[in-house]
Amino acid sequence: MGDKDKQISDLRSRVMWLDPIEGDEDFIKQDETLVRYLKSRDWNVDEAEKMLKRTVEYRRQTRPMELECSWCHEKAGYHSMRQVGFDEVGRPVIYSNFSQAAACRSTVEDAIAHCTYLIENAKRSMKPGISSWVFIMDCTGMTMQACNPKLGYGVTQVMANHYPERLGLVICINHNPVFQGVWRAMKLFLHPNTLAKMKLIRSKRKVVSTFQKYFPDELVTWLREEIKLNKQKPLPTFQAEFWKRPSRKSDHDPRGCPSYVEQYLENYEGNTFSNKHSPHKPHPNIVDSIEGRLERTIVTQDEVVARLRAQEEAGRLDEMNSDAEDESASEIEISKEFQIPKDASKLFT
Ligand SMILES: [Zn+2]
Repeated sequence: MGDKDKQISDLRSRVMWLDPIEGDEDFIKQDETLVRYLKSRDWNVDEAEKMLKRTVEYRRQTRPMELECSWCHEKAGYHSMRQVGFDEVGRPVIYSNFSQAAACRSTVEDAIAHCTYLIENAKRSMKPGISSWVFIMDCTGMTMQACNPKLGYGVTQVMANHYPERLGLVICINHNPVFQGVWRAMKLFLHPNTLAKMKLIRSKRKVVSTFQKYFPDELVTWLREEIKLNKQKPLPTFQAEFWKRPSRKSDHDPRGCPSYVEQYLENYEGNTFSNKHSPHKPHPNIVDSIEGRLERTIVTQDEVVARLRAQEEAGRLDEMNSDAEDESASEIEISKEFQIPKDASKLFT
């Protein structure tokens, strides 16, 4: 028996007596789970056992597999992050853009809820042998209120603690000075393995070649169009309401690339029926829209003003977006409420 086989069977013998998680019975006994926790702890069985037990407790307490994003259900488009397709090897691809999000100000709590909903559902769309995902962070429209080091740290902490070895790749594009400030603060807390998965791309040419390297043609085409449309100011309604099916079939569909739309959205009700226990659910508002539950969103005058202000600020910042390689080109002040607490620990994975 190879060393790794022995470590896997050691870890299994230490956790197999744990009560299964209701609704998630396979989680503890799967080889894939054991391997991810061991890998994340450099194959140290004691450390992997501690970490896995903490996740089992977390999954029992918070039941992430059943979690919904109440913020999005209450206000359509509160968060824009959504799965839009798969990369060349079949990893789910999750795209987010700040201009499309209705929330002007996000908190660690709502960002974790939305992100957890997405990644738990991304898992349900994975074919056997696939265990990681890809994020595309389109920073157009990013403000400090919408995304800051404290928020980024909080979300990354949950991922590092409870979803080890699942992050395949993060592609960040259209950086503005806010992104650069957040990134400078965040990277001090990230493990070298995580840093190695982050691709910060500045030039348009590199964005295209990176997309072509990792994604099938239909997703490359979809992303280029989506990113271009989301740069418009003001953002057109058909992009702001990204959960809606376009009026003409030939129009760009902001819900996702054609094969994802066909397999997961057009067949949503069929998938729910045939796979009752764990159908993949798309963005909460796409589900609401398909199920005819999407109430007309009530937006107060205060919210209209807040969103306009945020868009103005983001527009000003986006104009400062440069392709310069020098990261220190534009410094930005980060107020105390958005900073990572001084006593925060480094994120392990
Ligand atoms: Zn949400």
